[in-house]
Amino acid sequence: MGIAENIKMIQQEIKAAQSRSPHAADDVLLLAVSKTRDVEMIREAMAAGLQDFGENKVQEWMGKYEALPQVNWHLIGHLQTNKVKYLIGKTKLIHSLDSVPLAAEIEKRSLQAQVETDVLVQVNIAEEDSKSGLLVPELSAFLDKMADFPHVKVKGLMTIGPNVTDTGQIRPVFAELRRLFLQEKARALPHCQWLYLSMGMSYDYSIAVEEGANIVRVGSSIFGPRLYL
Ligand SMILES: *Cc1c(COP(=O)(O)O)cnc(C)c1O
Repeated sequence: MGIAENIKMIQQEIKAAQSRSPHAADDVLLLAVSKTRDVEMIREAMAAGLQDFGENKVQEWMGKYEALPQVNWHLIGHLQTNKVKYLIGKTKLIHSLDSVPLAAEIEKRSLQAQVETDVLVQVNIAEEDSKSGLLVPELSAFLDKMADFPHVKVKGLMTIGPNVTDTGQIRPVFAELRRLFLQEKARALPHCQWLYLSMGMSYDYSIAVEEGANIVRVGSSIFGPRLYL
């Protein structure tokens, strides 16, 4: 199947997941993860109606940005502090804020450029060593601290599901992120805006939608298998 057919199928599956769950969001953004894909493939997905694309490596993304500056670009991978300067003013949303030094660097560069930078805070719910993100007990204090960085705009939370085939282990992780989202939203910190819950990838996006995701990050189900991660 081609990219356009894949997208149509995923959109139907998202709708089906929405209709079978009381927790589902009304609007779910299908974010196409275009890492390792070339500009032609991105154009094909754009022709099929997608406007939001996610990349995980700043270096790789920069060339694509040059070719397609009109895209809503999302940075979804772990972000090194020394790469922040390359993306300020060019991203719709950074999904992977995971440390105070990173927030401080985004603040500094955003202030210099006189822009605000929208971010999600990444939470490592499954506490897998291989994943970045804050641990659950660290989240509230971290969000309090974000008051010090007025150009860093927290818009919600992101997580990566556990890398397991047993969906019974995936659902509680997504349910926990929804619980944290609602808990933090209820604190009503004036410097945070609770808009986005980013969770779910190719193999688990329908579970994520059932558990309340309103951004799903889908790569291989749109573009086909990747040669590397
Ligand atoms: C690669 C990646 C995805 C998409 O993975 P697929 O399995 O190809 O859908 C989603 N989120 C993050 C953070 C990724 O790095």
